[in-house]
Amino acid sequence: VKQKNWHVHYPDDIPTTIAYDEKPLDAFLASTAEQFPKKKALHFMGKEWTFADVYSQARKMAAHFQLLGLKKGDRVAVMLPNCPQAVISYYGALLAGAVVVQTNPLYKERELEYQLNDSGATFIVCLDILLPRVTHVRGNTPLKHTIVTGIKDYLPFPKNLVYPFIQKKEYNMVVKVEPSEDIHIWQTIMETGHEHYTPVDMDPKNDLALLQYTGGTTGNPKGVMLTHYNLVANVQMCRKWLYKAEPGKETVLGVLPFFHVYGMTAVMNMSIMYGYKMILLPKFDPEEVLKTIQKQKPTMFPGAPTIYVGLLNHPNLKKYDLSSIEACISGSAPLPVEVQEQFEKVTDGHLVEGYGLTESSPVTHANFIWGKRVNGSIGVPWPDTDSKIIMENGEEAPVGEIGEVAVSGPQVMKGYWNNQEETDNVLKDGWLFTGDVGYMDESGYFYIVDRKKDMIIAGGYNIYPREVEEVLYEHEAIQEVAVAGVPDPYRGETVKAYVALKAGHQIDEKQLNAFCRSNLAAFKVPRIYEFRDELPKTAVGKILRRQLVAEEKAQQTKT
Ligand code: AMP
Repeated sequence: VKQKNWHVHYPDDIPTTIAYDEKPLDAFLASTAEQFPKKKALHFMGKEWTFADVYSQARKMAAHFQLLGLKKGDRVAVMLPNCPQAVISYYGALLAGAVVVQTNPLYKERELEYQLNDSGATFIVCLDILLPRVTHVRGNTPLKHTIVTGIKDYLPFPKNLVYPFIQKKEYNMVVKVEPSEDIHIWQTIMETGHEHYTPVDMDPKNDLALLQYTGGTTGNPKGVMLTHYNLVANVQMCRKWLYKAEPGKETVLGVLPFFHVYGMTAVMNMSIMYGYKMILLPKFDPEEVLKTIQKQKPTMFPGAPTIYVGLLNHPNLKKYDLSSIEACISGSAPLPVEVQEQFEKVTDGHLVEGYGLTESSPVTHANFIWGKRVNGSIGVPWPDTDSKIIMENGEEAPVGEIGEVAVSGPQVMKGYWNNQEETDNVLKDGWLFTGDVGYMDESGYFYIVDRKKDMIIAGGYNIYPREVEEVLYEHEAIQEVAVAGVPDPYRGETVKAYVALKAGHQIDEKQLNAFCRSNLAAFKVPRIYEFRDELPKTAVGKILRRQLVAEEKAQQTKT
């Protein structure tokens, strides 16, 4: 065991080191299906499937991939929202020895083409309504085979349709797909295929399970190479953190998309490895989520701040019983303390902040769910995970000093796919440099101050947007806020706040300004406010601060 850079007292129930299973991730689907064959694995808009069903269908997919010539290490793109097929094709590809490439179903042709070429994917599984996009680009990519499925394959008569890309009337539109040598119909594979795939010899510590693309807001996305061991280790840490959860007994709410690393690990892989039932929701629709919680009674609900904010501000919040929820970890963006406190009040459960990034599968830090937590902190490093703060001069920072957060542990990626230069920029001497700026306090709790690139320098002062956002979130009229530095001829940059108000609330720039002035040093107070109905967000609900800045710059060059 490595020497730790931190000294934290873990509760007795959580070990500081774990003997991780050196098995491929997909082997856990087999063992869970054996242990809990009849337990429900998936719930999707009123219909349910057992672990035995999921395993059987994943084997059929694996056998079919191999029939089409898939070899160990080939890349399989999966372009699906949360639905049964997303789980089945992910595990089917892994059983066949492939590397999964998760593709955001909202990708436009250009983004899809880039990802298919960069990853060299030769197979893709997509929804029927996404097929035109795939067909449009496939000639320019290495793709050989496309497997097409429809939501209707699993849900012939949906009652409450929550569908991310199409309207109800479009759902009833029949998407006709003609099978051919390279277009294959999911339904046919399930109806006529067999389960006899050929098991592949895997080396979990070296063989990749996943190429997970990231960095979309900072130039071209890069493929993060995550091994089976990386993914298994992160779930096993997560399991220890949630030590009160009982295998085969929990229900996890799957609002986070599985095509993002966070939903994939915290909901999908966690549930498959430990026999939890997962509730699949293909879209974040606040009222649908509230209804689902009341009806399906999930015990765990990993999410992101904007998801919790969206629920708390729903006008019908009080009508629903959310008391089944016991444990929530919020990640992907800072969790305002206000939001944490309010959410715990309405659910009676625990909501704690955690932290991670795609390059570390993703989780590296969290607060204890049933133990000490510190408001505004991302918590402490996870078992076997080390973390330190590096100053500009490359030295380790003393307690309380701000610098770049670095992490190391069994969940840290192998590197970026075909990109040694970028890999060398972030992986140094076994440490992953996260690009996040933060500090550690004397009891070993870490704090993220901001992204390296998001720091605002206005008139020579360094301003961290997060601090200003925290203040604005305390204002009762504000639903969402993003603070960014926009170009300014005199001060280099100036602080701008983008604000979305809660329904029924009104406030003007002057009042907000007065509020900020009474809570912040003058140099941090936003000089410009812009009111919007809604702020742009990523698939996991992270507000796209950099997109707002890009819009601002485009606007300024026009005028
Ligand atoms: P992704 O690779 O898409 O998961 O994004 C990772 C980034 O999200 C991190 O590098 C952080 O900038 C940000 N992030 C994740 N969790 C938190 C948190 N609790 N507080 C602040 N930023 C976070």
